[in-house]
Amino acid sequence: MRAIRGEILYFTGDPAGGSADALRHFADGLLIVRDGRVAEAGPAEALLAKLPADARIEDRRGRLIVPGFVDTHIHFAQTDIIASPGGQLLEWLARYTWPAERRFADPDHAAAVAGFFCDELLRNGTTTAAVFPTVHRVSVEALFGAALQRRMRVIAGKVLMDRNCPDFLRESAEDGDAGSRALIARWHGRDRLQYAVTPRFAATSTPQQMRLAGRLLAEHPGIHLQSHLAENRAEVAWIRELYPEARSYLDVYERFGQLGPRSVFAHCVWLDDTDRGRMAATGAAMSFCPTSNLFLGSGLFDLAQADAAGVRVGIGTDVGAGTSFSMLQTLGEAYKVLQLNGQSLSAERAFYLATLGGARSLYLDDRIGTFLPGREADFVVLDTAATPLLARRSAACGTLAERLFVLMMLGDDRAVAETWVMGEPAWRRP
Ligand SMILES: [Zn+2]
Repeated sequence: MRAIRGEILYFTGDPAGGSADALRHFADGLLIVRDGRVAEAGPAEALLAKLPADARIEDRRGRLIVPGFVDTHIHFAQTDIIASPGGQLLEWLARYTWPAERRFADPDHAAAVAGFFCDELLRNGTTTAAVFPTVHRVSVEALFGAALQRRMRVIAGKVLMDRNCPDFLRESAEDGDAGSRALIARWHGRDRLQYAVTPRFAATSTPQQMRLAGRLLAEHPGIHLQSHLAENRAEVAWIRELYPEARSYLDVYERFGQLGPRSVFAHCVWLDDTDRGRMAATGAAMSFCPTSNLFLGSGLFDLAQADAAGVRVGIGTDVGAGTSFSMLQTLGEAYKVLQLNGQSLSAERAFYLATLGGARSLYLDDRIGTFLPGREADFVVLDTAATPLLARRSAACGTLAERLFVLMMLGDDRAVAETWVMGEPAWRRP
């Protein structure tokens, strides 16, 4: 058993949903962890009285403890091309992504990047992520191996591409299917690892590969599907040429049986109300990737329309087109994207989206994203005085909402003092 004392914040629902009980905050709180899971979280005074006299208390008073962040879309194989200038989506893929992903045929390279990538997630307070490796089986093995070592919750799967990509990243639809099946058998459900069928996007798969991907999903209840959707206007026009029979880009995925619970689509910028309605009705989720959408000039995500349709939404960093591993920075950029759309994002809603909202979009809210009893004890210890400016600005805040807003606008990896995974320390700021 472990008990951690500090300021505690978590959500039990969407604060935008109007429920007064959605946000739980204890200025002097205690988080009790037993066997890696949350036993109880609440006011320190009351809970300390119930603990045995010899219980070890980790004192983090003055720090803010929140559930581990959930990154719903990121590419581990693009770690080394983050901050590469030039071009919008399709040019960026050709110029940077393909050459970078080619290197993941080498298991040593894949292992080295996977270790760095998982450490970087932890350094930023991210304990769960939905991750794109490459088409190479060894890249998936490397990522799952690194996550297993750190006990992180990672959802990933071999990228599927059988057209419109260089020869060195292309394989047949049947080989992609066989490779995916082998990886599911070896990795899915092992400790905290989960498999996702991963067609990169509809343009790089033939109808045959899309069909097989839908079948794979149907044959394995409990696995995820992840892909990209309606990110960039040139991409949307290209999909219309490739699939003239489809009503929309989203409809391509639906026709091949790829929409449903545990299907998560990055970007979702250029959708219409019918698309949003279908996503809500089927239980599919959107990953809002603000830094990537700004960096590639893709467009502005419409959170108000997603909310109106009732679609599940999580936040994605989308590294390497995304420009930061930090979910705090990503929330700050999400706020700015919505400002450009004439919409707003409260700090409470932002922290919800980065924790329980992300967990819900991945259908993991019964395991992570909150401090309700029985949940896996992944959490972040945040330092709201991490920099001179943060300290000065935070000290002037009167309310929790104000402090959270300052943290998401000025905070980044420097504000992450510690990251804990399954009730054990996983990273500590030097
Ligand atoms: Zn992406």
